Amino acid sequence: MKIEFEKPIVRANLDRITFPQQCPVCGVRSDSVTKITAIPGREQYLRPSWDPRFSPSRRRLAGISELEKKTLMVPVCQDHKYEAEDECRSRILCVVSDGTLMAVALFAVFNITNDLSLSRMTGFWAYASMGLFALSLGLTYFVFRPHPIERAVRIVGFDNGFQYVWLEIEKEEYRDAFLEENKIHAELISWIMKA
Ligand SMILES: [Zn+2]
Repeated sequence: MKIEFEKPIVRANLDRITFPQQCPVCGVRSDSVTKITAIPGREQYLRPSWDPRFSPSRRRLAGISELEKKTLMVPVCQDHKYEAEDECRSRILCVVSDGTLMAVALFAVFNITNDLSLSRMTGFWAYASMGLFALSLGLTYFVFRPHPIERAVRIVGFDNGFQYVWLEIEKEEYRDAFLEENKIHAELISWIMKA
């Protein structure tokens, strides 16, 4: 079966890859770098090495390299730099506060309904805790949404035992600049054959 990509995919040699000195998000000259890491399980695999059904042991048997720590250093501007570690920390914090606040909010709902049936006024804390819970959920959405850089340069997958990386590049100008920079070691792919 022939699968056409919506946007052509760039296939580049992982060892020789060089990124243009411009920000992939806004196009200004880059003065910083950011790490992009492929996250398994986000449907960004093309080859068995990305299929979550392949356990590490099966992968080793099949001669497919491990998928951990596949990180690319991409030059970006200050505005679009982001620290995956910081983000990870705030994501964990969000999940923890969501859980805690949900418990409090449930308790508040219970109190409010109970007080209603006794035609009593519930304290302000109950409404405040529900508000906080909503705020925390909103923040979680914000923290978990894909970062502009993750949309600008996305790792689709790897092949040939991690010799090549497949990238989806959002902006055409940046894609052209990238191909110019990696003339010999990169190619544009607009479709693949899948068995
Ligand atoms: Zn930028």
